[in-house]
Amino acid sequence: VIILSIETSCDETACAIIKNGHEVMSNVVMSQIESHKRFGGVVPEVASRHHVESITIVIEEALEKADVTPKELSVVAVTEGPGLIGALLVGINAAKAFSFAHDLPLINVHHIAGHIYANQLHQPLEFPLIALIVSGGHTEILYMEDHLSFEVLGETRDDAVGEAYDKVARLLELPYPGGPHIDRLAQVGSDTYNLPRPYLEDDTNDFSFSGLKSAVINKIHNAKQKGEEVIPENIAASFQESVVDVLTKKTMRVLKEKSVNQLIIAGGVAANSGVRSAFESLSNTHGFELSIPALKYCTDNAAMIGAVAYHMYEANMFSDLSLNGRNTIDIEEIRV
Ligand code: ATP
Ligand code: MG
Ligand code: FE
Repeated sequence: VIILSIETSCDETACAIIKNGHEVMSNVVMSQIESHKRFGGVVPEVASRHHVESITIVIEEALEKADVTPKELSVVAVTEGPGLIGALLVGINAAKAFSFAHDLPLINVHHIAGHIYANQLHQPLEFPLIALIVSGGHTEILYMEDHLSFEVLGETRDDAVGEAYDKVARLLELPYPGGPHIDRLAQVGSDTYNLPRPYLEDDTNDFSFSGLKSAVINKIHNAKQKGEEVIPENIAASFQESVVDVLTKKTMRVLKEKSVNQLIIAGGVAANSGVRSAFESLSNTHGFELSIPALKYCTDNAAMIGAVAYHMYEANMFSDLSLNGRNTIDIEEIRV
């Protein structure tokens, strides 16, 4: 089964050719980061325009690199949502046109399912599993009994982790997206600012990260008032320590409640060095099976969309030319 998959939910225009759900024949990602940097974040209208400019090029490049012709494809898959509606529609319209032109079926994929299935690009998923999603717009703990079956056990009540990273980076006047910059600084700084661990005491699997950002604002403000120097490396290290502490402790609590065969970490913040090493050492001491995508498959890409679509194809879960983008989609809606 050879799938052409398209992803345009935010600020990367991406197309991949995936064989049997795990073999990456090509994976093309055109990032718009440079265009959004000067605005300090993704501007939806700018994103849509760039997707329009890039989508055809990216599709052609993916086919060329994989050395595959449209005739050899089994199906076209595309991200339906969640994401920016104008951005999604560019990918969806390209997918519809391609499917119509080459008489191929169409599959609509959930973006967060994609982040989880990025793990399938290096090893098969093992069920039941717990997935911790830490991305730019989502922070959730999910339970999966089997393929394409998602139960939300906990989620953020305000900011997503990636969003918190980007906001703290902005306070430190680091470029967008700030996550990787905070990560870099954190590695040379120390946890000296004693930031709170939001929601850790509460008996809930939900998260909250907006208070952490406010705590950083206060620390910076207080330091400035006292004429003390703000040390960005230490702010970054303190913030990262707090985030990692909350993510690991909450996840470990869920792992105690549910007996599973695998823990998956997914989404852009799964690229974070502190998050990766904390979960790797927990996996070693507690002996649970851990899966984190390779760095390039943590942030948005189309290979992960093709990985989900493979199972949808096997389950005959097709869409049609009436497919529309959706800003939000409840992942529990997915039914085999
Ligand atoms: P969503 O997937 O929820 O729709 P998104 O697609 O915008 O959101 P992703 O592509 O999954 O988000 O991830 C982007 C986020 O990951 C950004 O917030 C970015 O700062 C963050 N990020 C990327 N690398 C790192 C890192 N090394 N450390 C911390 N954060 C990181
Ligand atoms: Mg992005
Ligand atoms: Fe994403």
